[in-house]
Amino acid sequence: MKENKDVTILAIESSCDETAAAVVRNGREVLSNVISSQIDLHKLYGGVVPEIASRKHIEKINQVIEETLKEAGKTLDDIDAIGVTYGPGLVGALLVGVAAAKAVAWARKIPLVGVHHIEGHISANYIEHPDLEPPFLCLVASGGHTHLVKVEDYGKYEILGRTRDDAAGDKVARAIGLGYPGGPKIDRIAKEGNPDAVKFPKAKVDGAEYDFSFSGLKSAVLNYINGCKMKGESFDPADLAASFQKAVVEVLVGNSMKAAEELGISKFAIAGGVASNSALRAAMIEACEKRKMKFYRPSPILCTDNAAMIGAAAYYEYISGARAGLDLNAVPNLKLGER
Ligand code: ZN
Repeated sequence: MKENKDVTILAIESSCDETAAAVVRNGREVLSNVISSQIDLHKLYGGVVPEIASRKHIEKINQVIEETLKEAGKTLDDIDAIGVTYGPGLVGALLVGVAAAKAVAWARKIPLVGVHHIEGHISANYIEHPDLEPPFLCLVASGGHTHLVKVEDYGKYEILGRTRDDAAGDKVARAIGLGYPGGPKIDRIAKEGNPDAVKFPKAKVDGAEYDFSFSGLKSAVLNYINGCKMKGESFDPADLAASFQKAVVEVLVGNSMKAAEELGISKFAIAGGVASNSALRAAMIEACEKRKMKFYRPSPILCTDNAAMIGAAAYYEYISGARAGLDLNAVPNLKLGER
C-alpha cells in the first residue's frame, strides 16, 4: 500500500475496564499507548462492575488522552483522525470513550472513525508484524468471547466460529480460589500442575463445527470440586488449573487448525486477552509449525484491551474512506463486519 502522507490517529478505547488512548502512525507504528487499568478496583467484587467502570472512565479519560499525546510528542494539531471503539462492550463504558472522541472531533474538526473492538484485537497483529497482510485466520479469545475469524481483507471479516459462553476462566478460577481476573492466575498456577491429572470432556457444539462452548467444561470442573468436597477429599488447585487449561487449549487449537486446513489458509494469528496465555501460545506455535503455517501473535501488552490496536484498525477504516458522524452511538452488541 502506498501513502502520499503519514496518517496519525488518536485512538480511544473504553469498552470494559481499561481506559486507554494511543497515538498510532500509518496503522502500524505506535507513538504512545497509555492504559489506565481498573482491575484493582473490580477485584474487590470478583468481576467487572459496569457502573463502577463507567464512573472510573469518566474520571480518567481526559487525563489518559492528554498523557498519550504528550508521550507521543504530539498535539491535536498533528492528529489526522480520531478512532474510537463503539462496540461491543458495556454500554455505559463505551459511551464515555465515544463521547470524548466526538467532543475532540467536533471541537477540532477532525474526522471520526468508529472501530469494532474485536477488529481492534485482530489489528494488534499488524503493529508487531509489518509483513502480515490479509488473508489470514485469527482466533480472538478473551474472558467472555471467542471468535474464529477469516480476515479476508482489511475491514472484511467472516466469522467461522464463536462462543457466547460466560467467562469460564473467571468462574473456574473463583471456584479454585484464585480470584479475579481468572485467566492470568490460571496460567500462572497451571505451570506447577499436571495437565493430565484430571480428564475433562472436550466441548463440542452440534451442527456448528467451528463453534466453541466452554459451559460444559466449566460445569465439569465445578462438579469435580464439589465431588471432592463431599467426599472430604482435597484437590490440588495447580493440577485442576492445568487440566482445565489443557482442555480449553485443545478445543481452541483443534478448531483453529481444522478451519485452517479446510480453508487452505497458511497464515494464522491469535489475539485477545487469552492470546497471552502461555499454554495456548506454545500449543499454537507447535500446531502451526507442524503444518508449516506462519504464526503471528501480539506481545501480551497488545493482547489485553488497549487503544493502540484501535488505532491500527482505525487507520485501515480511515484510508478506505469510512467516517462516523457526530451521531455515532455506543452499540453494546455490535457484530463484527457490521457498519
Ligand atoms: Zn477486548
